[in-house]
Amino acid sequence: MKFSILSRGDEKSNKIRTQIKDYLVEFKLDYDEVEPDLVISVGGDGTLLEAFHTYVERLDKTAFIGVHTGHLGFYADWMPEELEKLIIEIARNPYRVVEYPLLEVTITPNSGAEEDRYLALNECTIKTSEGSVVLDIEIKGDHFETFRGDGLCVSTPSGSTAYNKALGGAILHPSLEAIQVTEMASINNRVFRTIGSPLILPSHHTCLFKPLNDRSFLFTIDHITRTYKDVKSIQCRVAEEKVRFARFRPFPFWKRVHDSFVSDEHSK
Ligand code: NAD
Repeated sequence: MKFSILSRGDEKSNKIRTQIKDYLVEFKLDYDEVEPDLVISVGGDGTLLEAFHTYVERLDKTAFIGVHTGHLGFYADWMPEELEKLIIEIARNPYRVVEYPLLEVTITPNSGAEEDRYLALNECTIKTSEGSVVLDIEIKGDHFETFRGDGLCVSTPSGSTAYNKALGGAILHPSLEAIQVTEMASINNRVFRTIGSPLILPSHHTCLFKPLNDRSFLFTIDHITRTYKDVKSIQCRVAEEKVRFARFRPFPFWKRVHDSFVSDEHSK
């Protein structure tokens, strides 16, 4: 098996990276940063997001696992104290793969230039630094509403515990092939009206956002930010691709949610 390791870059994460690498090479596993079967991220959730985007072109051939060296890791669920156990598991035992849905975002410019396609593990947000975001929202080809406000967040089920949660969105189990649209401070009065509730769309429902003013937009795709001018439309839907996580022990989603947000006293 070929593996690679991505570190957050701090001293502790780099040290753990070297330890894991040396042990796994001793166990006759191949270190390969170009075509790894297993990618180990050492750091936090941000490091796992970085690892995901590094290998986004070969998701069907790559499984991810996260070791956390900071606090609260939602994707990074192995602790440094468990390193020896994890190394032996990787070296000796075949792992189970769990697959989670992803978000596909397609940004089409007005100019007729080629569209850009992104995959997000957590979410895409649409914001502007030039006043309000004003756009028409179409769902499955039909006009749904005109949105005015600070912006919108479209999240995956595994990303529903991230930015989406802070916006009052629901937490979705990743076995649901769905995306969730949440509002950021929508303007609601006698003139302007939006639904005000998060919307959960199944995989066969595409959401299209059509800007109604010529603002430049700030898009985030997970931890990555991009600025676009002259946007014709932004299409969001459940992607055909999935992310694959290597599981060496059961760690149910609701337990992870409980341990991250309620209390981790029972997990020790
Ligand atoms: P960061 O360093 O600001 O970390 C954001 C926090 O989000 C960290 O505590 C991280 O552990 C947590 N997180 C990331 N993914 C998560 C998930 N799926 N479930 C639960 N918690 C999760 O930023 P970063 O490390 O570059 O990560 C980018 C992510 O930060 C974005 O994808 C977005 O979801 C999140 N974010 C959250 C808010 C908010 O909650 N108000 C605002 C901006 C960005």
